[in-house]
Amino acid sequence: MIFNTPTIFASVALVALIMAFCLILAGQEHKRDGMRAGGAGLLAHALAYCCYTLYGEAPLWLTYGVGNTLLALALACYAASLLRIHGQPVPWSRIFALPLLMAAALALLIETREPRMFAACLVLILQCLLLMVWTWRHARHPGSRAHLLLLLGGGISLIGLLLRVVAIATGAAADLPYNVSNLRQTVSVSIGTVTVIMFSLGLVLMAKERTEAALREMALRDPLTGIANRRAILAACERELERARRAGTPLAIALLDIDHFKRINDSHGHLAGDAVLRQAAALLRQRLRLSDEVGRYGGEEFLVLLPDTGRDGALTVVDGLRAAVAGQPAQFAELVLPYRFSVGLWCGVPGAGDSSDRLIGHADTALYQAKAGGRDGVCLAGPAAA
Ligand code: GH3
Ligand code: MG
Ligand code: MG
Repeated sequence: MIFNTPTIFASVALVALIMAFCLILAGQEHKRDGMRAGGAGLLAHALAYCCYTLYGEAPLWLTYGVGNTLLALALACYAASLLRIHGQPVPWSRIFALPLLMAAALALLIETREPRMFAACLVLILQCLLLMVWTWRHARHPGSRAHLLLLLGGGISLIGLLLRVVAIATGAAADLPYNVSNLRQTVSVSIGTVTVIMFSLGLVLMAKERTEAALREMALRDPLTGIANRRAILAACERELERARRAGTPLAIALLDIDHFKRINDSHGHLAGDAVLRQAAALLRQRLRLSDEVGRYGGEEFLVLLPDTGRDGALTVVDGLRAAVAGQPAQFAELVLPYRFSVGLWCGVPGAGDSSDRLIGHADTALYQAKAGGRDGVCLAGPAAA
């Protein structure tokens, strides 16, 4: 089926214009999420295709020179949008060097035919490749639908451009002016529609996926200390418990509570208390193995999970943590703030009736005993205490 080429250009321009409007509107609220750069790209894309529709009626420098420079500008904006969505710095000079190169090359070669067509295709091919490489490199979830859409959009554009290069190289450049309608042009130009839709949907989806990932992260991280929050550490506890039960391996659950923490708040203020909590959490994370888990269980209470760790191992780890805390008091401005932990420890191989609530309850009882016994110490609960 052969379509009228200027009509396809006009429809791509219309689709891009509508998409640009939607993206710019969507990006209005969140200035840093790359939507406006994507919208600017679509606007440039729409204007480029408007220039193409005038081919044969307006001067070549406008319909070909400005048109292709605008298309290069559109791809540059898509790249900027992609980087912004991923929170990466945008190398503006590198990104906009290629549209500038396009403008310079077309200014020099506009009176030629094949060289100007080659030059335009070459710059656009470079941009598509760059866009695909950045999409690939910044893929947090490589299989995500957004990355797939952008890679597909880039891939399809690349195929379209390569087909054009082959056609020019085989002497078919005369078939490719923008006001000629034939099968080759129908295929080549329709690719523009696919590109616009895939790039715009890909960018919107990518921003959405990133926001969702940030929300997921926020739901599981304690904002003050940056470690797992109560919800996340309880989920980790369920996971480790199930694993230890299935494998028949020991698990240690330690509940750490800062002694007389209220006094720090009362004497030096809540900001000093916050600094102690942050530094205590950082110290715990730093001292524990990667396979161990630590989370903020409550105000000044931390829950530590030590998989594959029996009684002696757990006591060694907890003593190591207490020694580290004793040797590294917290600092707040000029103040040095020593603090200590009391610890309730449960260790053993979890049985069929052991839920995480129950085992944490045992650790909590042991913690209470550690407090009652004078603080700054460890109490064992469960089978290990016997
Ligand atoms: P104990 O040795 O018996 O554990 O005494 P404590 O003072 O540590 O415990 P208590 O439960 O009496 O006080 C805990 C305090 O922790 C009270 C609460 O205001 C404070 N707190 C809880 N969350 C935060 C926080 O995010 N920041 C700050 N600065 N303080 C907090
Ligand atoms: Mg306390
Ligand atoms: Mg407490």
